[in-house]
Amino acid sequence: MHEVSTQSVVAALATAIYELSKQEVPEGPAAYDDDVQRVYNHVVLRTLIADGYETPGSVPGMLDMMAGQPLCKLLPGDLGDDEDAVLLSDARRPTQECMERIVNTNRDVMGEKFENAIMKRVFQACQAAESPESYVAFRRLLISEPTLTKKEMTAWFTEIDLQPVAEILEACYTTAPASLCRDGRYAQCDGCGCLLRPAERDEWQCDLDRCRGSRTRVRRYLDADTPGGVHHLEFPLRVFVTGPGIFEVGLERKLRKRGLKVLMWPAYDAYDLLITFPDGTRWAIDVKDYAHPGILGARFPGFRSNPPADKKFLVVPDYRNKKRYRLRFGNARKNAGKSSMALTFEKELLQEVDKKHVPGPANGQIRKEGPDA
Ligand SMILES: [Zn+2]
Repeated sequence: MHEVSTQSVVAALATAIYELSKQEVPEGPAAYDDDVQRVYNHVVLRTLIADGYETPGSVPGMLDMMAGQPLCKLLPGDLGDDEDAVLLSDARRPTQECMERIVNTNRDVMGEKFENAIMKRVFQACQAAESPESYVAFRRLLISEPTLTKKEMTAWFTEIDLQPVAEILEACYTTAPASLCRDGRYAQCDGCGCLLRPAERDEWQCDLDRCRGSRTRVRRYLDADTPGGVHHLEFPLRVFVTGPGIFEVGLERKLRKRGLKVLMWPAYDAYDLLITFPDGTRWAIDVKDYAHPGILGARFPGFRSNPPADKKFLVVPDYRNKKRYRLRFGNARKNAGKSSMALTFEKELLQEVDKKHVPGPANGQIRKEGPDA
């Protein structure tokens, strides 16, 4: 047991939290699967042999200790960059950082693997239909409409561009759970369009990192008895497609406002944005919105060479620019034996753009869509 690396314990904890979060009914005693029990036992042992740590008395007790707290409060030992990681939110939901952790394991659990599997199917379906427009329409729908009523689903899924992926879309949306409902209605987040979670004192809370820093506002309420029900995207798609996607289309809008041509997810997602300046210069942009810079650094595979671009940028939203994000990203790349790579925050990218190109009036291409207008 002492041989188990801290990293694998953190990954196992993240997986356990995610597995437990999928269970709607509160757990009875001893009804946990082996992996959850194993990681709990491990935490108990670690805390017993260390000074100054509380030992959880049960799995729910362990979750109580973790909610909204950094890992260093729970786990003894050198946690390195993981000491500040919060895997479970105050609302008892897996955080984005938790989801990123899961995909770092080799287990075939959901998380980004689910997202990758879905995206692969979409890619194949759109290629078979020779319709790159369908790929873009699919991405835009997941970003702008993470919550839909049955009637809205039917209307969207029969849109001509979405026809090749209609069947896959059915698998992306799931019936909203009763745990998100309060007084017979669901509430949709104004910041991201996802369903909010009932919180204390009649308040609502969003699961996405991007919304957590600001005051929660409700875009609309949906009655639980809406005919056909209320549906929302599977959690990994909300975390890995909707969240960063809102940032991607927000960036698209800012660049179009400057009079630049922007192509989204060119060549079936070779990267996220391809900007063309009036002089013909092309910049490729990949957007990543990872809570954990180390995981991003270790995982980012580099840019695809096609479509070709004169410059390539890995862009991260400004709100992530804290806790030595860039340094930790660079260190992780080095430790993983990956080529060094510059990381650019959005503000810096826009400064680079403005240095090269005097912002012009909108060129009429601004699309009114997405919740981040
Ligand atoms: Zn939100």
